[in-house]
Amino acid sequence: MINIKSIHKSYTNGQNSLHVLKGIDLKIEAGEMISIMGPSGSGKSTLLNILGILDNYDDGVYQLDGKKIQHLNERKAAQLRNKTLGFVFQSFNLVSFKNAMENVALPLYYQKVSRRKRNKIAVEYLDKLGLKEWAHHLPSELSGGQKQRVAIARALITKPKVRDTKCEKVA
Ligand code: ADP
Ligand code: MG
Repeated sequence: MINIKSIHKSYTNGQNSLHVLKGIDLKIEAGEMISIMGPSGSGKSTLLNILGILDNYDDGVYQLDGKKIQHLNERKAAQLRNKTLGFVFQSFNLVSFKNAMENVALPLYYQKVSRRKRNKIAVEYLDKLGLKEWAHHLPSELSGGQKQRVAIARALITKPKVRDTKCEKVA
């Protein structure tokens, strides 16, 4: 499902370069549940951003679901993310002017699912996460934990093959 070999990634600004990922190998089969652990600043988010096709890498090979992921344009990357990946961002990244239901439904909007249908499915997902009552509230009216659950529902609504289950506990 996910196969990476000798991935390297540096961050460069001006004269300074920070070599964060130094030849990472990782193979994850379908159905496996993996957690990536390490001290703060060790490169976990850097790796997840590459796996989630949110950032590029400098060297190595990344294959996702049999497809080589390299130098994709924004459009192609967005399509693959929408179809294959469910990503829960550390800072949620909910759309502030859309309510919980609309936020959860967003990935289906990009799949051209009708408004009525996608909103209905979104409410079902919110219900699974105990948030049905909050469907019509804006993110600013939700607690941190509630926002995180909305972000989880949004990551799951497309039934992606790769689901990021990073769910740091938010009180
Ligand atoms: P983790 O998620 O394990 O805490 P990160 O992957 O966020 O670690 O960061 C790894 C290192 O890369 C840190 O030293 C961080 O300061 C640096 N870093 C992360 N993102 C950037 C960036 N966009 N530009 C420059 N340096 C970055
Ligand atoms: Mg991090």
